[in-house]
Amino acid sequence: MDKLLDVKNLEVNFKTYGGTINAVRGMSFDIDTGECLAIVGESGCGKSVTAKAIMGLIPCPPGEISGGSILFDGTDLLKLDRKSMMKIRGAKIGMIFQDPMTYLNPTMTVGKQIEEVLKKHTNYTKKQMTERIIEILNFVGIANPKRRMRQYPFELSGGMRQRVMIAIATVCTPKLLIADEPTTALDVTIQAQILELIKSLQKSMNTSVMLITHDLGVVANMADRVMVVYAGKIVESGVVDDVFYKPQHPYTWGLLSSIPTLELKNKEKLPSIEGTPPDLFSPPTGCAFAARCAFAMKICKEMYPETVDLGEGHHCACWLLHEKAKNVRQSFNL
Ligand code: SF4
Ligand code: MG
Repeated sequence: MDKLLDVKNLEVNFKTYGGTINAVRGMSFDIDTGECLAIVGESGCGKSVTAKAIMGLIPCPPGEISGGSILFDGTDLLKLDRKSMMKIRGAKIGMIFQDPMTYLNPTMTVGKQIEEVLKKHTNYTKKQMTERIIEILNFVGIANPKRRMRQYPFELSGGMRQRVMIAIATVCTPKLLIADEPTTALDVTIQAQILELIKSLQKSMNTSVMLITHDLGVVANMADRVMVVYAGKIVESGVVDDVFYKPQHPYTWGLLSSIPTLELKNKEKLPSIEGTPPDLFSPPTGCAFAARCAFAMKICKEMYPETVDLGEGHHCACWLLHEKAKNVRQSFNL
């Protein structure tokens, strides 16, 4: 497979009155054509900021992309001017947000909102646009598209609004679809339908998907590879089976053990990861997870662990994997 997106050493900061927040601290990853990469991690770990950096949607100031490159289809998006970026956004890269009500325009009909994208990115005639709108609404599972396209967002259910947002994001058949917590605002049955829809779009258009979520069930169901992010850095990544069945990072262990299971007895408390993520105004020099990690050693607080290549594309940044930590691993029975 070919790399469609290749992000290298991405650094994103936000300047505030309180100081500079290092939101993304040197992330490198890639996505192949037709592949689904999931990004997981707690709120505020830099998932959405990464997505916005790719979309060219970081407000500068207060934001600043202070380092790295984002190669998309061979072009460094960070070197493009506003106009060239606008040609890519919406046409070659589509984005679905968490809450359709915030991102859909309440004063425009569904049809008009899809038409706006087509006007910007195609030379379609009015008739061609209408045909395409009906086609895409059908495709995203909206029955009676001729009637629906004349309706306003408030006239639609939450699930239908999310389908409209997917229609807007995919009407120009993008090469990359970024879905930022696409199902969080929806109820469970609708969630499953929306995920199925994204999956089928991915297959039929051979679109790559970058899926941001904190729901590991969604990752298992959708993604080829997963990247676990903590405090603006990737701590573990690999194909889903490796990361889920052979996790190596204590933070990944924590995430995986906080999934409810059927075996959980009524009174048993669901394990959670104690503590809170570090202050990104002044991130620790060592491992950012050290304050919450049951296995933290002296070195963890002093130096950031190098990323270890575990083979088959599985990577993990943790001092426990270091040769010299062998006795620590043994003492914990790891
Ligand atoms: Fe825990 Fe140290 Fe590994 Fe960080 S590097 S996760 S503190 S063991
Ligand atoms: Mg977010």
